Amino acid sequence: MEKFRQIVVDAGKEMFKRSLTVATWGNISVRDPESEYIVITPSGMDYEACVPDDMVVFDKDGRVVAGERRPSIEKDLHIRIYQHRPDVNAIIHTHPVYSTVFAVTRQGIPAITEEFAQVVGYTVKCAEYAMPGTKELAENAVRALGKERAVLLASHGAVCVGPDMETAFKISDVLEKTAQILILSRTIGTPRIISKQDVKVMQDFLKTGYGQR
Ligand SMILES: [Zn+2]
Repeated sequence: MEKFRQIVVDAGKEMFKRSLTVATWGNISVRDPESEYIVITPSGMDYEACVPDDMVVFDKDGRVVAGERRPSIEKDLHIRIYQHRPDVNAIIHTHPVYSTVFAVTRQGIPAITEEFAQVVGYTVKCAEYAMPGTKELAENAVRALGKERAVLLASHGAVCVGPDMETAFKISDVLEKTAQILILSRTIGTPRIISKQDVKVMQDFLKTGYGQR
């Protein structure tokens, strides 16, 4: 599990560096697809100071299998998403400014740029409100996430999911940038939403036709 602990430690430092969150807020996890063990950040620790042994390891049913620290209070959020999404192996929960503007006004973020359509999808919904760290928050988030790659937590922040950590970070970046563009675009006009059909075409293209062979 050493490799997976290190991935989460590095991701924590990266999250802090990219200003996706403040102080010790936000949390990260990865799943080892083989053992199905889930590595989650500890609760309230400075990401700059975290080492692999600070990470908490859970089995797929949410039982602690390693780690001495108290896990992130949002452990249920992470575990429930993995239980529902076999395609997801990395989750980043952050409190970035522009995405949170949508979360506090309980609005989703639609596909207004091609970049968003390709990397994130058709629309990111805002989950129904629940207190942080509760099972209700985890259930609401799973429901609003559906088969998408991100979800907003009402009055709280964002959750991005991917097949690996690199992809989850890319989704986080594009979601936050799109939220900023959406706010700015509304100040000078009416942003147009890309159709579901076009989003699908762009995603298929990205899978098969983009980049080098
Ligand atoms: Zn949070």
